[in-house]
Amino acid sequence: MHSTAYDLDAEYAAEVAAAMDDIGAQWVPTVAGTHGAPDLMMFPTGIYPGRQILSIPGITHPFTPNTCRDVDAPGMWVLDGLILVCRGCGIDCT
Ligand SMILES: [Zn+2]
Repeated sequence: MHSTAYDLDAEYAAEVAAAMDDIGAQWVPTVAGTHGAPDLMMFPTGIYPGRQILSIPGITHPFTPNTCRDVDAPGMWVLDGLILVCRGCGIDCT
């Protein structure tokens, strides 16, 4: 008997990888710090290790996570709705 959750995760990861290949998207590692410009943050949100930025050709984000001013804005679904990224900096919010 095998785990359904594991299979779904693997399937999802494969779908994401295929969708990224299609458009030439890449994961970019984040640096340590917070998601959000310091002057905006009453309660700074640390970026947990391993969280990444999705870099998509043709989409430029105005901020980096450390200077992001769109922290509270709704994210943007990309890769056919597989991944949710921050509009300001592209960090993965899925
Ligand atoms: Zn952001």
